[in-house]
Amino acid sequence: LRKAVIAGNWKMNKTRPEAKALIEELKPMVADAGCGVVICVPYTNLETALALTEGTNIGVGAENCHWEKSGAFTGEISADMLAEMGVKYVVIGHSERRQYFGETDETVQKRVRAALDAGLTVILCVGELLAQREQGITEEIVGLQTKVALGGVSAEELKRVIIAYEPVWAIGTGKTATAGQANEVCRYIRAVVAGLYGQMAADGLTIQYGGSMNAKNAAELVAQPDVDGGLIGGASLKAPDFTAIVEAAS
Ligand code: 13P
Repeated sequence: LRKAVIAGNWKMNKTRPEAKALIEELKPMVADAGCGVVICVPYTNLETALALTEGTNIGVGAENCHWEKSGAFTGEISADMLAEMGVKYVVIGHSERRQYFGETDETVQKRVRAALDAGLTVILCVGELLAQREQGITEEIVGLQTKVALGGVSAEELKRVIIAYEPVWAIGTGKTATAGQANEVCRYIRAVVAGLYGQMAADGLTIQYGGSMNAKNAAELVAQPDVDGGLIGGASLKAPDFTAIVEAAS
């Protein structure tokens, strides 16, 4: 029906020698994976990651991109620059971008647009803050983030979108959503997408969970009917941990 994808989000970690060592270790370990495997790495590691994963089952992604093709945007990287390198994936709208770098639903929408135009597959991150969950507005928040980000995305383009549900309170905190909580929101996101694109498209959409997912809790999370893999932060930085999660989703 749809594919489970385990994607690592390295965030601001790994120098080039460290990246090389991790990828070399990981390659044989995930070679027989029964799910999609992607590593999203800092810009400085993209060339290394692309070279080392050539001909393997590991896809390479960036962690962000700008919406303009080129120009006076100091410090930014365009989707076209990524695509030209051979990068296939890009994380857009991660909660750390939203929290620390002023990313909004509107800039997320623009970045999604640019990434799709460049031919990339987008890993679109949505998720509520703890206060929002406590106020009982998780669905409103996640629904709005999803709808705005997908504004202008065609049904054909949706095939190049993965949504990652990452409750902000679960990221890097060791506090994982329960499998039930994860499934509930992933199912809700699928219903929102069904409302926009129809049930068939929604049924084909990969919706990941992210937030303190690790070798121990991955199996229960990915066993949920609406959870199609995961976006992994901390546990993607060690080959055995990341491999255990890939195996849980295979
Ligand atoms: P952790 O797995 O470190 O909680 O991070 C999750 C995340 O933000 C992935 O994008």
